[in-house]
Amino acid sequence: MKNNYIYADNAATTQLDKEAYEAMTPFLLEHYANPSQPYSFSRASKNALKEARRTIAECIGAEYEDEIIFTSGGTESDNWAVKICSGDSGDVITSAIEHHAILNACRSLEKHNRKVDYITVDSKGVIDIECLERMISNSTSLVSIMLANNEIGTIQPLQYVSEITREHGCLLHTDAVQAVGHIPVDVTKLGVDLLSASAHKFNGPRGVGFLYKKHNISIAPFIDGGKQEYNLRAGTENVASIVAMSVALKNNCLKIKENEIKLEYLESQLISDLNSYGLDFIINGSKNKLPGNISISFKGCEGESLLHRLDLMGICVSTGSACDSVNTQISHVIKAINVPVEYANGTIRITIGKYNTLEEMRRVAYCLNKIIKG
Ligand code: PLP
Repeated sequence: MKNNYIYADNAATTQLDKEAYEAMTPFLLEHYANPSQPYSFSRASKNALKEARRTIAECIGAEYEDEIIFTSGGTESDNWAVKICSGDSGDVITSAIEHHAILNACRSLEKHNRKVDYITVDSKGVIDIECLERMISNSTSLVSIMLANNEIGTIQPLQYVSEITREHGCLLHTDAVQAVGHIPVDVTKLGVDLLSASAHKFNGPRGVGFLYKKHNISIAPFIDGGKQEYNLRAGTENVASIVAMSVALKNNCLKIKENEIKLEYLESQLISDLNSYGLDFIINGSKNKLPGNISISFKGCEGESLLHRLDLMGICVSTGSACDSVNTQISHVIKAINVPVEYANGTIRITIGKYNTLEEMRRVAYCLNKIIKG
């Protein structure tokens, strides 16, 4: 069903893929048996879980399907990695521009007198590898660096990070919530031990995700209870959503290049329209970034007011990370990359998705020009 909004906030959440939706309904209405039960009625849901695990493992280059542990989404996977997988006493290193699911999990460790160091980033949002080299030591148990940033889209050089963590024998986690299903992600090539992903960021349903855990590492459970998820994450599985997540991921991965070309085209058209209106703006982030993720700062404007005026015109964008849109201050990411003050306040995030059209992006540029020029 089509609504009347122009939805340009695809980093906040995405429209459910139709095939994913169709794949989930039989597990709500027909094959609703608890997959842990031994009777034959449970077979369909049990097999569906296995199939979904295998599909997801293949999509991210995991070697074994039991490396995929289903969770409720990115926040849970991130909390598990930071609070549990870092062990009882080791130090943690992360970056200054992580999502709050990581940063607040780190704050929680700090409250328990655990040491956390925050790697700085350059003006494009790329982590300072030398800073990591200085911080890492034999007492580091976990390094957690996001694969792609949710505000500015910058992709981090994870391979370099993994060379360093391997030398020091500590675990490497990546929050790949914005990357999975949008750019090629291969856990083996990246050299990560743990990876967080969330279905609703890649056209799956909200409230479901997974944690990839390399087979040769052992981690403690996040939720105690029954024996689900290899005794690591108790609770009856959300079979329908898990199935839909696997279909959505497979569909996005099959069309990753096609989607990238489309999103980059829409992005360049939007920026070229804004330029042709003569607006004064800068684009934040690195050239190596998520396709369709535009963090844009307009000189002398208020991001918050741009968001509300666009809303009145039926256009959805964000001022920073979705969870931060109520917070009118300049985001920690925009601060960390040192956007000049005269631009920083006028920052909005436009994130284009696979269902957006050229017509919609032209309308976004037209409305921005109308609002800014008055
Ligand atoms: N990590 C990143 C980079 C995100 O962008 C988000 C959501 O915005 C999360 C984690 C949290 O994911 P979820 O909404 O599935 O809890």
